[in-house]
Amino acid sequence: MGWVKFLGTAGARFVVARQLRFSAGTWIELSGTQLLLDPGPGTLLRCRKVRPPLEPLELSGILLTHKHLDHSTDVNIMIEAMADGGLKRRGVLLAPQDALEGEDPVVLRYVRPFLERIEVFQDGRTYTVGGVRISPVRHEHGQVETFGVILEGAEGRLGFVVDTKFFPKLPERYTGVQLLVINTVLREWNPDIDHLSLPEALEIVKAVKPKLAVLTHFGMTMLRGKPWELAREASEKLGIPVVAADDGMTVEAKDWA
Ligand SMILES: [Zn+2]
Repeated sequence: MGWVKFLGTAGARFVVARQLRFSAGTWIELSGTQLLLDPGPGTLLRCRKVRPPLEPLELSGILLTHKHLDHSTDVNIMIEAMADGGLKRRGVLLAPQDALEGEDPVVLRYVRPFLERIEVFQDGRTYTVGGVRISPVRHEHGQVETFGVILEGAEGRLGFVVDTKFFPKLPERYTGVQLLVINTVLREWNPDIDHLSLPEALEIVKAVKPKLAVLTHFGMTMLRGKPWELAREASEKLGIPVVAADDGMTVEAKDWA
């Protein structure tokens, strides 16, 4: 067992606003523990509409990498759904400090008591939810506190590089992951946007050498370039399997073993 399902693959404002792709989060099962990463707009709906439907009551935790809307819109409703409408106190939320406190917290105070606990991401710390060890990796994404994550369970080690600009120490933080998922918003490098471009994503893949790399969270320029073709070209060039995620795509432990 062990699988990752991409409920949505949209990144950045325009693809999300026009719903050119769904903007729901990513559902992960490792060591029999189910986790949800970045519940963007439409996550609850997509959980119930995919076949087979995913059951929020089976979630053990929600991981919010940062508070931007395309990652956080459904965080409150997913907390409530995980806690059986607030009837039970269950599940863990892991999130950056500024998603919880400060001027613009995105996690409503009234849903917080539904959670068994809230963990604030700190680089260098490790958190355990069910059978999964979670290590946050600090990213550089404008003014908003952002963390990628490395998840370790019985089926291996999975790395998620989320919204960030490239920085030299980024690839080495993901050393040893078997599945590497990278939010690849831009086709070409743009110094003014704190997001990864395809050439930077591939530089990370080349350095980390995972068994499988998955590109997701696409902006307009990536969509126009046909992500599946760009991924195929990258696989040939790097000699490492690279795939572009589709809405609803599932990868399984055998794919990264
Ligand atoms: Zn962002």
